[in-house]
Amino acid sequence: MSSYLKNTPTRDGFFGEYGGAMLPPPLIPHFAEIEKAYDKLSKSAEFLNDLKYIRKHFQGRPTPISYLRNLSDIAGGAQIYAKREDLNHTGAHKLNHCMAEALLAKHMGKTKLIAETGAGQHGVALATAAAYFGMECEIHMGEVDIKKEHPNVVRMKLLGATVVPVSEGAATLKEAVDSAFGSYMGQADKALFGIGSVVGPHPFPKMVRDFQTIVGMEAREQFLDMCGELPDLVAACVGGGSNAMGLFAGFIDDEGVALHGVEPAGTSSKMGDHAATITYGVDSAIHAFKTLVLVDENGDPAPVNTIASGLDYPGVGPEHAHLHKTGRVSYTTATDKEALDAFYLLSSKEGIIPALETAHVVAFAMREAKNYPAKSILINLSGRGDKDIDFVTETYGFGE
Ligand SMILES: *Cc1c(COP(=O)(O)O)cnc(C)c1O
Repeated sequence: MSSYLKNTPTRDGFFGEYGGAMLPPPLIPHFAEIEKAYDKLSKSAEFLNDLKYIRKHFQGRPTPISYLRNLSDIAGGAQIYAKREDLNHTGAHKLNHCMAEALLAKHMGKTKLIAETGAGQHGVALATAAAYFGMECEIHMGEVDIKKEHPNVVRMKLLGATVVPVSEGAATLKEAVDSAFGSYMGQADKALFGIGSVVGPHPFPKMVRDFQTIVGMEAREQFLDMCGELPDLVAACVGGGSNAMGLFAGFIDDEGVALHGVEPAGTSSKMGDHAATITYGVDSAIHAFKTLVLVDENGDPAPVNTIASGLDYPGVGPEHAHLHKTGRVSYTTATDKEALDAFYLLSSKEGIIPALETAHVVAFAMREAKNYPAKSILINLSGRGDKDIDFVTETYGFGE
């Protein structure tokens, strides 16, 4: 195993100065229980074999790498390749960690999974995992999001989950997190909180990263097999940062491979118009861990906005804050406009409709390819865009 992955984070969950667990006292024993169980199971052949079976026979792994010939020709520089997480069951990388979290819950004797969801993607993935394992599932969602993301609400219900509407405050993601955590506190004996990215208190940033490393491990081997060498650049979009950490993990010890994270620049660099946490954030804390955070004038998490609701978070995984600080990963941004152009381009020129989140890294590849003739760029195609087609075409039409 990679020496970086083995040694990071520290035993108490720190990636450099970021991470940790600043928990309310009643939750401390429950997180200690999760940590202990994961420590044991991550070394258990039975757990790892179960996970391997699920990935192959339920999720449809390994997902392929596709050479994007037409986009490479249009960009006129580097050759662009994509790791196809959109072909993972349910259409995105999120199921990689949701299945593993559910398997962990099962081994811990839990009968229920609880989480919040914003756009509904995490809720659908967790509800899928709960159905597979015959567990109860309770998903908290703001009433505003319930109206906006109707198809995902229908999916969660079909999958057998209970969707709890949250009407407090702005009735979106932040209120849903608070509501889900409150509900979890009352039933932590029988339930596991299924965090949806490499965020939250220790051990979740490490666990979710470990569960996503399958993406990078497969990709490294597949790329070597396909091209006879490693890619020069590896890139992924960053919201909380789970799909990016998954792909980066496969290449993090390869010093010759440049790693790039792409944040959403929204409509402008003004606070409230974007969600580019690493680019504009400061050292702070959010949801019980230390990381870079976008804050308002009072030091509270700032409002964020991007065309891709899956990237709409004023914090970022602590490991990304650390990798930014050490310089191992370079972070940059793509705007709503660039993401939209890339959405239309990948759809019409390659036959792949990407999620709007994913479109940010496609935009990055198109922009950077010119600067790297005779090199290769591998991007993480984190998810498919079926969920976005109505919104995009009703708002912006069909592109030029
Ligand atoms: C949720 C989501 C993301 C953002 O989450 P990360 O944890 O940053 O990976 C990116 N792409 C897709 C398709 C998503 O559903």
